[in-house]
Amino acid sequence: MTAMDGSLEMMIVMKEGAADAEVEHVLTRLREAGARGHISTGDVVTVIGVIGDREVIAGMPLEAFPGVDKVLPILRPYKLVSREFRSTDTVISIGGGKIGGGHFGLIAGPCSVESREQLLESARFVKEAGATMLRGGAFKPRTSPYAFQGMGVEALKILAEARAETGLPVVTELMDPRQLDDVVEYADVIQIGARNMQNFHLLSAVGEVARPVLLKRGLSATVDELLMAAEYIVKEGNADVILCERGIRTFETATRNTLDIAAIPIIKQRCHLPVIVDPSHATGRIDLIEPLSLAAVAAGADGLLIEAHPMPETALCDGGQSLNPRDFARIATRIHEMVTWVGKTLG
Ligand code: PEP
Ligand code: MN
Repeated sequence: MTAMDGSLEMMIVMKEGAADAEVEHVLTRLREAGARGHISTGDVVTVIGVIGDREVIAGMPLEAFPGVDKVLPILRPYKLVSREFRSTDTVISIGGGKIGGGHFGLIAGPCSVESREQLLESARFVKEAGATMLRGGAFKPRTSPYAFQGMGVEALKILAEARAETGLPVVTELMDPRQLDDVVEYADVIQIGARNMQNFHLLSAVGEVARPVLLKRGLSATVDELLMAAEYIVKEGNADVILCERGIRTFETATRNTLDIAAIPIIKQRCHLPVIVDPSHATGRIDLIEPLSLAAVAAGADGLLIEAHPMPETALCDGGQSLNPRDFARIATRIHEMVTWVGKTLG
């Protein structure tokens, strides 16, 4: 699918068992009228989001088309990511596993790739403990320009090597569209960090590639702003977006940020995309990873993103919030128990 013009104001719900030719007929007539259809195929019915000039669309007798059940307005400001547009949970396939709709993802690894040894060791111990994906930053968004900025493309190659050895899909952050090709070449999931949640050109750029995107909530972003950011990606054709609650700025200073647990069920009410939680950046404290991970699973999260390092005291970035291999293994076991208890499966 290509980029779309106009806005998405309504959706056409096809009848159960509508023929492909009937769907095709609707799409053809929309095209002839200068509008466009965005198809979402559910288990039972097909829904066509209509994008284009509101007045032109309003003038079409869409309800009279063969195979059409009803035509409904989409009232939320975000459209393609809304529950109104798609009532069933989006399930995203990554490597051999899945995330969303009952599939839980445990993503773990160091804040940044620091060396081949450090990353391979990380990959081995998180895999051993039951993680389903490996994280590691190659391009780091640091508050200080003098802090470690990441190993860049070399780190991407090391991540790919770790995947080849362990089979774990890898997640890494993209900060600049100029690095998109490199990240797509080596990574399985493109992370968009909290600081770039409203970098709209970056969002559109990752919307055009065939890689799942892990979109982190901005430090001061509302839930609806997060969903609008996701809409930028999905609008360009990439429907595989995972949302991540990673704590927001509040007056509270006991934790690095404040984990907004309520955001999980609220996003799930409004949006069909998987939601994961990052308790590491939310709190900045290793002693809070376990309780908040369990709380996140209980609140309905589809996954967790946890920082873990072979030797946190030597970490070049976020060592204070990174779990060591022993603590990670212990907490991962508790997480697995909780995931089973809520009726989900790992991976
Ligand atoms: C990270 O995951 O390494 C990171 C920098 O997170 P955030 O963008 O949430 O601060
Ligand atoms: Mn970090």
